[in-house]
Amino acid sequence: MKPPNMSEPEANPEPLDFVRQIVEDDNTSGKWQGKVHTRFPPEPNGYLHVGHAKAICLNFGIAAENGGLCNLRFDDTNPEKEDVEYVESIKEDIRWLGFDWEDRLFFASDYFEQLYEWAEQLIRDEKAYVCSLPLEEIRSGRGTPSEPGTDSPFRTRSVADNLDLFHRMRAGEFEEGEHVLRAKIDMSHQVMLLRDPIMYRIRKVEHHRTGDKWCIYPTYDFTHGQSDSIEGITHSICTLEFENRRPLYDWYCEYLKIHHPQQIEFNRLNLTYTLMSKRRLLELVNSGFVSGWDDPRMPTISGLRRRGYTPQSIRNLCATVGVTKHNAVTDMVVLENQIREELNQTADRRMVVLDPLKVVITNYPEGESEELDAVNNPEDASAGSRKVPFGRELFIEREDFMEDPPRKFFRLGPEREVRLRWAYFLKCNDVVKNDAGEITEIHCTYDVDTKGGNAPDGRKVKATLHWVSAAESVPLTVRLYDHLFVTEDPDDTEDESGSWQDNLNQDSLKTLTAQAEPSLAAAEAGYRCQFERKGYFVVDQDSTTDERVFNRIVTLKDAWARAKKKK
Ligand code: ATP
Ligand code: MG
Repeated sequence: MKPPNMSEPEANPEPLDFVRQIVEDDNTSGKWQGKVHTRFPPEPNGYLHVGHAKAICLNFGIAAENGGLCNLRFDDTNPEKEDVEYVESIKEDIRWLGFDWEDRLFFASDYFEQLYEWAEQLIRDEKAYVCSLPLEEIRSGRGTPSEPGTDSPFRTRSVADNLDLFHRMRAGEFEEGEHVLRAKIDMSHQVMLLRDPIMYRIRKVEHHRTGDKWCIYPTYDFTHGQSDSIEGITHSICTLEFENRRPLYDWYCEYLKIHHPQQIEFNRLNLTYTLMSKRRLLELVNSGFVSGWDDPRMPTISGLRRRGYTPQSIRNLCATVGVTKHNAVTDMVVLENQIREELNQTADRRMVVLDPLKVVITNYPEGESEELDAVNNPEDASAGSRKVPFGRELFIEREDFMEDPPRKFFRLGPEREVRLRWAYFLKCNDVVKNDAGEITEIHCTYDVDTKGGNAPDGRKVKATLHWVSAAESVPLTVRLYDHLFVTEDPDDTEDESGSWQDNLNQDSLKTLTAQAEPSLAAAEAGYRCQFERKGYFVVDQDSTTDERVFNRIVTLKDAWARAKKKK
């Protein structure tokens, strides 16, 4: 060992977030004998969104950092809304994010028999009773936060009667809504949730795993903590909205006398210009506004994957936003910047003209062409270079030319000179128009001595344009995406009668046909690159050899911040 005075200066370690601090303190005190066991407990009633990614990173991350384990458990107590399609998509998304539950895949429905026995135990201990009030009366009988509730007339049912009724509920003798099983806690408890909460309800519906075995289903509250307990979870990490349910979580563990994990609540991830609610995302899918759960505009993991985001960029977002006790909204730019930074380092540069304007170079010999060297990635020398064809006819971006340019427009105009990326200086001499007065092509001359992009006489140009050879370019279908909503907070509507749907961005998808350098003809689904000056793109799964489809992942800069500044 090094003597202390020779040790290297201690790096200032990042302070632990409060959840990790609790785990560390527990490890120090030996509360769980050094064991750390977490779980990620999705309900399979929709696809995962990026908010779930935060919970996944936290639960799997804390387990990994502490030599512990993290389970995947489906909280499948709501048979009407749940489906195997969701189970499979959730598994795929977690794996894609880079996490592994190994052999610890569980379903709350696997515990239904045990939960039923525990319910009987509470009945025998006079801690649960069958209540036969209609649901509305159960609700109104709860009182309000300032007024105590009233006891159900069935609260005093005998243990024998309760057991009999509960068995017959299971046997299917009653209709939905006829009876429920309630915990017998305290109808004037200051925590409303503890005023005799419902444990079981009759639901005559098939379950995606247990089929028609059950016609009574336990509530979330009577399932979640016990499932944690069965699995030996130490730290049951969930979002802040569960804070008020913690007393009930604790009550069931205590009165069932079972292993009692610690519930810890943290803040949800929210992003501007989008929504994080499975229910609403399902409405968007069903309405047809988006093409599906994996529409590249969706904040779902599958949508972001199809949009071209990497697992790393999403994990980095989750690490950046941090874990606290305060709900906040994170600017979408924080997510976008993650992928910008990553792809700036790793993505090939390519030239693609989104809105082509034809250029004829009148002093370039007809019938000839040449190949020029173009660097693949200025940030990464190992990415090498490629050849791009150059000839007499090119395409440039229509917006890079103005016939009558204002003072601050530095790109191409009559008698102006610009640099063509990796090629030559180009000067515009003439504009050709159709009968409607629209520019159809421009005639230019190039300076053969400026090959590679520099003039030997040292003269300068103010702009460098991307371009493609008209003869050799390949057409691409390009999808340009914008925010799903036009407002930062989609719930914030103009007037009270409005709804979040009013804020949907009707222009969130633009499809166009672009012209690309030939190297992109063979790009396969999932390939990411930068279209110079236009953003980062990925080849969509819809792409075929007949129609190549590229999605824009993100622009090179935050266009919305610039638009806001201008306002
Ligand atoms: P939603 O409201 O979108 O339907 P949910 O909370 O009902 O989400 P679950 O499937 O119950 O979805 O969530 C699984 C886990 O993910 C829970 O522990 C939940 O706390 C967590 N979670 C859900 N949304 C977020 C979010 N926006 N940020 C962080 N964690 C989240
Ligand atoms: Mg939920």
